[in-house]
Amino acid sequence: MSAAPSNEPTFRQSVDLMFNRAAALMDLAPGLEEKIRVCNATYTVRFGVRLRGTIHTFTGYRSVHSEHMEPVKGGIRYSLAVNQDEVEALAALMTYKCALVETPFGGSKGGLCVDPRLYEEHELELITRRFAYELIKRDLINPSQNVPAPDMGTGEREMAWIADQYARMNTTDINSRACVTGKPLNAGGIAGRVEATGRGVQYALREFFRHPEDVAKAGLSGKLDGKRIIVQGLGNVGYHAARFLSEEDGAKITGIIERDGALFDPRGLDVDRVRDWLVRHGGLSGYPEGQFSIDGASLMQEDCDILIPAAMEGVINLTNAHHIKAPLILEAANGPITAGADEVLRARGTIIIPDLYANAGGVTVSYFEWVKNLSHIRFGRMQRRQEESRHQLVVDELERLDVAMGDRWSLDPRFKEKYLRGADELELVRSGLDDTMRTAYQSMREVWHGRNDVTDLRTAAFLVAVDRVAKSYKAKGL
Ligand code: GLU
Repeated sequence: MSAAPSNEPTFRQSVDLMFNRAAALMDLAPGLEEKIRVCNATYTVRFGVRLRGTIHTFTGYRSVHSEHMEPVKGGIRYSLAVNQDEVEALAALMTYKCALVETPFGGSKGGLCVDPRLYEEHELELITRRFAYELIKRDLINPSQNVPAPDMGTGEREMAWIADQYARMNTTDINSRACVTGKPLNAGGIAGRVEATGRGVQYALREFFRHPEDVAKAGLSGKLDGKRIIVQGLGNVGYHAARFLSEEDGAKITGIIERDGALFDPRGLDVDRVRDWLVRHGGLSGYPEGQFSIDGASLMQEDCDILIPAAMEGVINLTNAHHIKAPLILEAANGPITAGADEVLRARGTIIIPDLYANAGGVTVSYFEWVKNLSHIRFGRMQRRQEESRHQLVVDELERLDVAMGDRWSLDPRFKEKYLRGADELELVRSGLDDTMRTAYQSMREVWHGRNDVTDLRTAAFLVAVDRVAKSYKAKGL
């Protein structure tokens, strides 16, 4: 269930409407538009877990939107609001997101109807392993077919349980670690994955502010330094984005909205202190600085330069779109603006940096993790070994790796170059992410500025993404 009122289309329909806007401007082969838009399959599972002496039944989903590239990719969400419409919308967004940032994956998404706050850790482990078991059995978790990752309500811990469950069920699969991304470092994860979506938000905004012409379109000027930002949701994505933007770019976080209300301080809030408070007290209420109000949603309508919705879909909808004052909105969440609200905001000249681009940092670094798992070589190791000895073995090993990876290096030769050179892992991840965010912005921007019939970044993003998906279908057939 999205936060949008019931007189608006569902989340799935909202994504389709945005897709349609772009498709109408394209010259797709007859029928291809429909093929790309629809979700290929959604699997629903109901399973029981014995907890505290009784059997609890859970409902979960894994939806595959497009298999034009495999594996398909997308997170697993734990929330009571999870439903089929939502996972299908999110799976579709994954297809377009991956195409836009050129990670060689199709789109998928999963969800489990559960409030993780109601369970002990060992109970969540039982639930997660059981859910994973159901999906693994049907190849809906598999290194070469379907690779989940964290999303709302899940994190490294759940990914480690899933990876272990897969390894137990596939003892001879040497690539088992690549069955899921977002794992802890000591379980085959990669440096910088936890912060990756927030980091991507930072890189996206930095790239936007490198183009004074684009900044002026939003009625703003200058750099990120001193810009007033309101963040809705201080979870993993919102927290990292707010922290990096305030600590490294001089932006001021003037508002933070959470479940129990909102904090406002025109002088700027200390993001780490607010996050500490939130973790310790379960809400923002009582925080000693700034003004607290229990009417969190209305802070989205406060005067600011940039609004960053970083929690869930549908929070900017027809009930509040007319009152949003921010001239620039960056969608760190998936689908935070409904199709109706998007129309209202576009008409008012608000610039929206769309989700498929703005939050793609997560899946981009997931891709690096997946490559790392498949290559079986620790990042940075090759360089040291090369320096230590120029032994032919190392050179051979690198060449074999290159051949084995084939086109899985994807389309970014810079990443491959750095990988083979053996840069330090975090450096490699950050620079690969930065390259990706810059390149994807340029491709969106070219369409935005280059076509008279495209007036917004979202349509530009969809045009680039759908064109790539269409080309891939054309190249290899349906
Ligand atoms: N759940 C994240 C997203 O919505 C990450 C997906 C992934 O890394 O596969 O993009």
